[in-house]
Amino acid sequence: MHGEHDPRECSENFLSGALDLLEVDDELRHLLRGPFREVALELPLRRDDDSLSVFHGYRVQHDHSRGPFKGGFRFHPEMDMDHSRGLASVMTWKTAVVDIPMGGAKGGIDCDPSELSRGELETLTKRFVQKLGPLLGPDVDIPAPDVGTGPREMAWIYAGYARTHEMDAPGVVTGKPLELGGSLGRTEATGRGVAMVTEWACEAEGIDPEGATVAIQGFGNVGSHLARFLDDLGATVVAVSDVGGGLHRDDGLDVETLFRQMNVEDSIDTVVESDVPHDSISNEELLALDVDVLIPAALEGVIHGDNVDDVRADLVVEAANLPTTCDADRALAERGISLVPDILANAGGVTVSYLEWVQNRQRYRWSEERVNGELRDFMREAWEDVSERASGEDVTYRRAAYATAVERVREATRLRGF
Ligand code: NAD
Repeated sequence: MHGEHDPRECSENFLSGALDLLEVDDELRHLLRGPFREVALELPLRRDDDSLSVFHGYRVQHDHSRGPFKGGFRFHPEMDMDHSRGLASVMTWKTAVVDIPMGGAKGGIDCDPSELSRGELETLTKRFVQKLGPLLGPDVDIPAPDVGTGPREMAWIYAGYARTHEMDAPGVVTGKPLELGGSLGRTEATGRGVAMVTEWACEAEGIDPEGATVAIQGFGNVGSHLARFLDDLGATVVAVSDVGGGLHRDDGLDVETLFRQMNVEDSIDTVVESDVPHDSISNEELLALDVDVLIPAALEGVIHGDNVDDVRADLVVEAANLPTTCDADRALAERGISLVPDILANAGGVTVSYLEWVQNRQRYRWSEERVNGELRDFMREAWEDVSERASGEDVTYRRAAYATAVERVREATRLRGF
C-alpha cells in the first residue's frame, strides 16, 4: 500500500463524482456516505510460546438497504478502521452495480498471517466471530475471503458462529471449502469475472483481446486464476508479480506451468528460469510496462500520484480494490487511458458468494456450469449497464459504475423510508 494512500478519502471522492452527476440532495448524500455501524475489537492472543500478543479486529458495515451486509475478511498488518471504512463503502457500490440483493461491509485483523501458527490463526478468527456476536449472521452480515484469508478461515468463521449461536448456518459466510457448503466455481470466480470484463472492455476500446498484451500485479487468488483465464482467451500475459517481485517475458509467460509451480513455491521470485523462462522485474517496473492492459490485482493505492505518469498501458482493469488513488485516477482520465473500476471488474467474487449463499439457503448444490453461467449473466448485465451509461453520458467507466450503483441504493433507501 502506498504510504500516503487514504482508502476512505479515495472511495468518498469516487462516490462524490456520482452524487454530483445525479444531483443527490444533501440529506441523502449524508446517508449514502457514512457507514451504518463500525466495530473495533481488542483481540488478545496467548501465543504458542506463551507470550501475549494483542491484535485488533475491525468490521465496518456500510449499508444494508438492499440486503444483508456483505464483504471480505482480511488478515494484513496494515488493516485498520480507515481501510475497513473505504473498502466497506466500495462493497456497497459493488453489490449494487452487479445488482445482487446485498449491502456492503469489510473488516479483518491487523495481523501478519505468515507469522502466526495455524492454531493461533484459528483462535484469533473464532474470537473475532465470538466478539462480534449478533452482528454477524446469514441475514445480518456475511464475510468472505480477502487478502490473507481463504476457505480455511471461512470454515473457522462458520464453525465459530455455529458454536457461539448453537446454530448450523452455512450462509453466515461464503468462500467456504466445498465440504462445508462452499460453491463450485467460487475460488476462481473473481479472476473469471475480471477476465470476462477485460475481454468486453478490450472489444469496446478497440483492442483485440486475442493477442492483447497484459501485465498483472499480484499472483494470489485473484491474479493467478485471472492469468489462466486470460491465457485461455488467447491474450499474452507478459508479466506477473507478487510481494517478492515479478517475472517478465515479451512473448508471453508460461502461465500454466507457473500456476502449478506456485503450489510448491512461497513466492514468485523463487521460480527459476529453467521452469518458467523469464526476466526478473520489480513491481514498479511492471506497472510501467508498455502493454495493452494493466491489471493491478494485489493491494490498494499501487497506482498513485508519483508513478501514474509512468503507466503506458491503454487500458487499466482494477482487479484489486481501490488500487488507483483518486489523483492517479484523474491523471489517467486526462491522458485518455480507460479504466474499468474495481466495483465492476472484480464483482465476480461477490456474485458467486451470493450464489453460494443462495445454495446454502436451499441446502442444495448447483453444478459448476450453472454457477458459471449465472456469473456470466450478472457480469454481462452489469457491464452493459455501465458501458452504455459511460458512452451515453460521456463519462468514465468509474463514474458510470458509481452512478448506476448509487441510483439503486438511493431508490432502496427512499423506499424503505428513514
Ligand atoms: P491474496 O492474498 O490471495 O493475494 C494477494 C497477492 O498480492 C499475492 O500474490 C501477494 O504476494 C501480492 N502482494 C501483496 N503485497 C504486495 C505488494 N506490496 N506488491 C505487489 N504484490 C503484493 O489476495 P486476493 O484474494 O488475490 O486479493 C487481491 C485483491 O483483490 C485485493 O485487493 C482484494 O481485496 C481484491 N479482491 C479479492 C476478491 C476475492 O474473491 N479473493 C474479490 C474481490 C476483490
